[in-house]
Order: sequence, then C-alpha cells, then structure tokens
Amino acid sequence: MPDYKYLLIGGGMTADAAVQGIRAVDPNGSIGLLSAESHLPYNRPPLSKGLWKGDPVESIWRKTEAAGLVFHLGRQAKQFSAKDKKVIDDCGTVYTFDKLLLSTGGRVRRLPFGGDNIIYYRTLDDYGIYREKGVDVLPGETAAGVEGRSGRLAVVTKGGRSIEVDGVVAGIGIQPNVELAHVSGLKTGNGIVVNEFLQTSHPDIFAAGDAAEFYTPTLGKRLRVEHEDNANTMGRAAGENMASKGVPYHHLPFFYSDLFDLGYEAVGELDSRLETFADWKTPFREGVVYYLERSRVRGVLLWNTWGQVDNARKLIAEPGPFRPSDLKGRLPA
Ligand SMILES: Cc1cc2nc3c(=O)[nH]c(=O)nc-3n(C[C@H](O)[C@H](O)[C@H](O)COP(=O)(O)OP(=O)(O)OC[C@H]3O[C@@H](n4cnc5c(N)ncnc54)[C@H](O)[C@@H]3O)c2cc1C
Repeated sequence: MPDYKYLLIGGGMTADAAVQGIRAVDPNGSIGLLSAESHLPYNRPPLSKGLWKGDPVESIWRKTEAAGLVFHLGRQAKQFSAKDKKVIDDCGTVYTFDKLLLSTGGRVRRLPFGGDNIIYYRTLDDYGIYREKGVDVLPGETAAGVEGRSGRLAVVTKGGRSIEVDGVVAGIGIQPNVELAHVSGLKTGNGIVVNEFLQTSHPDIFAAGDAAEFYTPTLGKRLRVEHEDNANTMGRAAGENMASKGVPYHHLPFFYSDLFDLGYEAVGELDSRLETFADWKTPFREGVVYYLERSRVRGVLLWNTWGQVDNARKLIAEPGPFRPSDLKGRLPA
C-alpha cells in the first residue's frame, strides 16, 4: 500500500506548485502525486496561445521534480476517508497519507452554451479590432447546438442561424471538480471550501487552485479563481502549509490574456454590473478601466498597460471613497 507524508490529488499547475511549496519547507517528507491524466504536469495557457503559434510542445512541461516524489499517473481518486487517512483510486489501489491536497481543478461546462458576452469583446468588435483580423463576432447570439453535416460542422443559434465551420472551440468556462470532496464528506460550496491556511473542513486536508473556494480579505468576500497566478501562488502556499509553515493566503490573484497584438492584466472583480470608469490613452487599445462599488475600487483592468498589477492591488485595498473622476491618471497607462 503506497504510504506518503504528503499525497496530492491532481496533476495540474497547482499540484506542481504545491510540490515546490512542500520542498521549500520539508526537504525529505515523501510525496505522492495521483493524477487522472497520463501526462506529467504541464502549463495550460500555452495550449491556447503558444502552441497555435508554433511553440514546441516540449516548452509546456513544468518539469516537476523533487527527491522522494512518486507519480501515479492515469489514476483517478474515487473516494477518501479523512478519518482513516486513506484514498482509493479507480483501480482499487489504496494510498495512505498524513496530509492530503485536493487540486482537482475543473472540467469544461456542459452545453447548453450561452451567457453574456464580455462587454469589451463587443466593444472591440465595434472598433473593428476583430474584423480586421478576419473574425466575425456575433453579439447577442446564443449557440443552441452543434450538428455534424457531411464532414463539416454546423453551429445552430437560438436566433435560427446555421453557421458551417471546420471546427468549434467552446470557450464556455469550467465547473469545479468538487464531487470527490463532496462524497468524502468535506464542505463544498462554489468549490471546495478552505480557510485562510487553505485547510478544508478537515485540518489535514487542503485544497487549492481552480477547485478551491477561499476568502480574500482585500475584497472581503469568498472567491473561486480559474487562473494561472492563483494556481501557482495558492498551490505553493498550500504545499508550504501542508508542511506546517502556517502562513495565511491573503493574495489577490490577477489574470491575463492576449487578443491578437493586444493584451491585458486584470485584478479584483471585473463584473460588468459594477460602475466603470475608463481612462483611455488610446480608446480600446491602451488604458485602464476601473470597476467601482459604493465608492470603492473593486477591480482594475489594465488594457495593454503593463507593470501596474501591484499598484492595482494597493488601490483596491484602499478604503476610498473614490469618485470616478478621482481615478483619472491614477494608474498610468
Ligand atoms: C487552454 C487554457 C488556457 C488558459 N489560459 C490562461 C490565461 O491566459 N491566463 C490565466 O490566468 N489562466 C489561464 N488558464 C487557466 C489556468 O491554466 C488554470 O487556472 C490552472 O491551470 C488551474 O490549475 P489546477 O491545477 O488548479 O487545475 P487543472 O489544471 O484543472 O488540474 C486538475 C488536475 O486534477 C486532476 N484530477 C481531477 N480530479 C481527479 C481525481 N479524482 N483523481 C485524480 N486526478 C484528478 C486532473 O486530471 C488534472 O490533472 C488557462 C487554462 C486553459 C485550460
């Protein structure tokens, strides 16, 4: 029976960061990593960025290494007992542990598709940024289904359109993988619920990454974040705390993406229902958009504006009160 001081369930970026966190505190404790994937941990963002532009597949690997680390790949954890400190996988293998991490991420949402388009994607379309790259944006259209048609695909919309295509990429978000935690008796909500030390409702079981719901003091609310910075930072913090470092996770994660030659970084709450103030240097190409609620800044979108993530975090932590006009030039584009 494999027996580990630290057992990690999940083989993603969070698990890799947790291995590093454990080793930063405990150089010797045995680590087992159980992943449903047959691959070693790899970076996800290059899948939709670098690889399509010709970056080599070899560039994505995380190179997860540590003395005393054993991988169990292609194995799915089916259940665990917090009391007996045992996990059972889909092949019937039983693993024992002192500390357990759940970094089970999420899985692609099931169709039906739909939801609101992000306001800036629409606005960019108004400014022709998509069109000039040969992309038609169909704002307000809801995809109702995909049909196979003589070797091609047809996306059928609620509005009755049928669009023939060679392939479909569904960017429809994920839902957190909480079933394992749930059937094993841990508290779940919009994710696996953790305290500021990233412990679940059982103190020897931790959760981090896309699957975890945590409290962020800066915003004064619980969040679940599906982004790289959170996977890396929270994964590492969970590993350190599994190895008894005892440091609270108070990080306010940021996220980023690229749209052709434009890029953005964003911190905090970017909810289009909040009041916004846009401070453009060049409209929709370079500037800062502030999201406000009750005279406080809740989120900052840095649009082609770099090196301001930490300043944005500090601004969100400030009590205000702010009027939108106070924010003009506050974070220089
Ligand atoms: C294509 C793509 C592009 C992205 N681009 C960006 C970006 O530009 N910017 C950004 O900030 N973020 C981006 N992200 C998001 C970011 O990569 C994720 O937030 C991050 O990868 C989450 O890591 P995770 O380890 O928590 O979860 P996951 O990567 O989902 O890993 C979960 C792991 O758990 C395993 N698992 C689940 N259940 C079990 C079980 N019962 N037993 C064993 N193993 C199990 C899975 O097989 C998987 O290995 C992107 C993600 C994708 C997929």
